[in-house]
Amino acid sequence: MGRSISWNLKKKVRETLSRETGAVHKEHGGRIRVCLVWPNAYSLGMANLGFQTVYHLINSLDDAVCERSFLPDKEDIEEFSRTSTELFSYESQTPLREFDIIAFSLPFEDDYVNIGRILGLANVPVFSAERDLTPLVIAGGVGVSLNPEPLAEIIDVFTIGEGEGALPEFIERFRALKDGAKDELLSGLDELPWTYIPSFYEYEYDGPAIKEVKRKAGAKEKVVGKKAFDLARFPVPQSFITTPDAEFRDTYLIEVERGCGRGCRFCAAGFLYLPPRWRKTEDVKEALSEGLKRAGKAGLIGTAVSEHPDINDIIGFGVEKEGGVTLSSLRFDMLDAGLLALLKKSGYKTITLAPEAATERMRAVINKGITDKEIMDAVSLVREAGFLKLKLYYLIGLPTETDEDAEAIVELTKRIKAVMARGEISLSINPFMPKPLTPFQWMAFEETATIDKRLKSITKGLLKEKGISVSTMSSKEALMQAYLSRADRRAGRFIVEASSKGWARVLKANEDFIISSVRMDRAKDAILPWDIIDHGVRKSYLWKEYGKALEARATPPCEVGECFRCGVCLPEYFEKEG
Ligand code: SF4
Repeated sequence: MGRSISWNLKKKVRETLSRETGAVHKEHGGRIRVCLVWPNAYSLGMANLGFQTVYHLINSLDDAVCERSFLPDKEDIEEFSRTSTELFSYESQTPLREFDIIAFSLPFEDDYVNIGRILGLANVPVFSAERDLTPLVIAGGVGVSLNPEPLAEIIDVFTIGEGEGALPEFIERFRALKDGAKDELLSGLDELPWTYIPSFYEYEYDGPAIKEVKRKAGAKEKVVGKKAFDLARFPVPQSFITTPDAEFRDTYLIEVERGCGRGCRFCAAGFLYLPPRWRKTEDVKEALSEGLKRAGKAGLIGTAVSEHPDINDIIGFGVEKEGGVTLSSLRFDMLDAGLLALLKKSGYKTITLAPEAATERMRAVINKGITDKEIMDAVSLVREAGFLKLKLYYLIGLPTETDEDAEAIVELTKRIKAVMARGEISLSINPFMPKPLTPFQWMAFEETATIDKRLKSITKGLLKEKGISVSTMSSKEALMQAYLSRADRRAGRFIVEASSKGWARVLKANEDFIISSVRMDRAKDAILPWDIIDHGVRKSYLWKEYGKALEARATPPCEVGECFRCGVCLPEYFEKEG
């Protein structure tokens, strides 16, 4: 039996539920009970399509029920502890520890620290080794699909890759094994190709590097990330639940495509979601009609939305219905007057573009594949279409970057401003963090002093320019994310410690180790914490791309059906993935 629940907390959740449309309320009786947890605020979770899609997929199964829980806000956390209330689900206000499965949706490393807080509030032991069979604590999402190791001592089972197709099988297997011992359950779940059971592996270390990995007898050698190769077999991810309390409150989100074939070498999502797959135009339009009816505005989501072959047709359809349509990403070389006119009509105010780097050499290093001329032509089109706000994204600390490359951001911005003439340009400049599953996975994070010096110089260079604003993330802010994205399982203790003490104290106490981890240049044959995972992209391909990057040599975009170079489209991978 759970303990008593604070009336105030219950009332607040019920009020939130009353403002939602589309939530599922199912009887628990006999069903596998899953509490899907977003490790941050409700408003952010409800604006995440991955979270919404997993909720929808599990609730589509007759024999399972999925409810939600979130990190409570600060004042509610105080109320939880004052009233000794355990964290509970939204739909039925059931304590988390009474569920069969607690499932974390984890797209971002920044939120890992909240897992300790949430399990603490739920009165569930944080470390896997200290827990009984249920609730089984599982996790999925982009962050852990790239590298689950930082959470290896906390999570029992990771589901690696895309959720579609995987979830029914997981629930079925869980149902069959849930009444046995925890070890038997884990061994049974390990038979699914895309699950990772971290307790089946032991690591030995040499300083910040991994020396050896030992596998428990019977544990699998490789985890093959799940991929929904044929997206048409699955429902279009969209805002199944709408609520005025979500981050983009009046925007109905719809996934229009998955994957990007451009091969930008810094982009983990680009490699993770290969090959590029587009939703059928009629399916997107159907979701768009529903979304505009429910919210008045739609946000088209994907890794490279503007590359959908029918993107103008889709936006035009929304405009005809007198709805607003926004896009999560735009490429310079995909902009044309027609697309910009449609965006203008659909209520767009700010055009957001990502040059990432300001010199052609640097863009060749990262395989961004756009020239200075294409940038200036696109800016002219933006001005001619009547837009007055332009947002530009850059990275600092990219491989082979010099002070001059960084400084070129100032000059390029001034040239862009001269073309825009009127209006505002805002720059968002972030430190580059090498990510798993990219050609830069072996390289060191840039010296923090170098990053900060370059950021300072750019900010100073643009300080007196009218209509230009610059926002930056300092190297210190980036350091923990840079560490967590490529960390091994020793990070788990830091994460749990930080959930009560905060990152600043943990960083101070472990600075030498953390800095030596992020600054480590990994050799070609180094054991990487995420080596166990196979997403189809061969390691040898990534290494070759790393070499080409250092020589500033370009790689052409994907040609699905004609190209097999990275390995994802090879028939062997399709078969392995199942
Ligand atoms: S094999 Fe070729 S087309 Fe397929 S994902 Fe890799 S690069 Fe793209």
